[in-house]
Amino acid sequence: VDTREAGKTDELALSVSYGDICRCVKKEMTKQNDKLLERVAERLAECILLQFPQINEVEIEVKKPWAPVLMHMDYASVKIKRSWHKVYIGVGSNLGEREEYMKLAKERVSGLPKTRNFKSAAIIETEPYGYTKQGKFLNTAYYIETLYTPEEFLDKLHQIENEANRKREIHWGPRTLDLDILLYDNLITEDEELTLPHPEMTKRLFVLEPLCMLYPRGIHPLERRRYADILEDLKGKEQ
Ligand code: ATP
Ligand code: CA
Ligand code: CA
Repeated sequence: VDTREAGKTDELALSVSYGDICRCVKKEMTKQNDKLLERVAERLAECILLQFPQINEVEIEVKKPWAPVLMHMDYASVKIKRSWHKVYIGVGSNLGEREEYMKLAKERVSGLPKTRNFKSAAIIETEPYGYTKQGKFLNTAYYIETLYTPEEFLDKLHQIENEANRKREIHWGPRTLDLDILLYDNLITEDEELTLPHPEMTKRLFVLEPLCMLYPRGIHPLERRRYADILEDLKGKEQ
């Protein structure tokens, strides 16, 4: 929690009441039995992050006194850190009822559990890219905060694409709905299943334009340049 304002003003409403946190922990701890400290820590982190919007990150240590190992030990413990992650998503549709698929995407992404603060850019219509013998696209970008890992989040996006009857036939071919993770915090990965930042994003006007509506001053983690500047350069090249 950023405690500065509460520190300056003495207003509890600008911080988080530790009494409320204690009650939340007690309720969660007495709700069910778990075998693993890992599980208890995970549940506590999640319930605190979901219940207190001012909290961005928690570190939880769950201690178990007298762990049954027949050796002297004060306690065994598991300590984890969990936080909200900022995700930008690229959205596209050029097959069938495009507006309906864009509406479905917005409803489903904004309604995902373990997420908050959803925002959408405006929808733009763009010419097809790569495989050009196909209809025009509707494109947009979303911002959302989530507790999911990148892999869990991609899995959720794939489920939404499937719900929109997405079929993978031609690479870069027509699709009812495409949901790509553009950015997950400033994470950089080389995994083929999930490459971050999205490797093609800096070459695509249809990605950068809506992204810049949400995040013009953002800085690409590998290129170290602002999205608004990358967009301006790309527009110059395309003319
Ligand atoms: P492109 O990735 O060039 O935009 P595409 O969206 O048409 O092409 P898909 O067929 O939708 O490609 O996805 C192919 C695979 O790309 C997915 O199954 C996924 O595992 C992988 N992938 C890698 N990085 C990402 C990412 N950042 N977001 C979404 N999918 C990704
Ligand atoms: Ca894509
Ligand atoms: Ca995709």
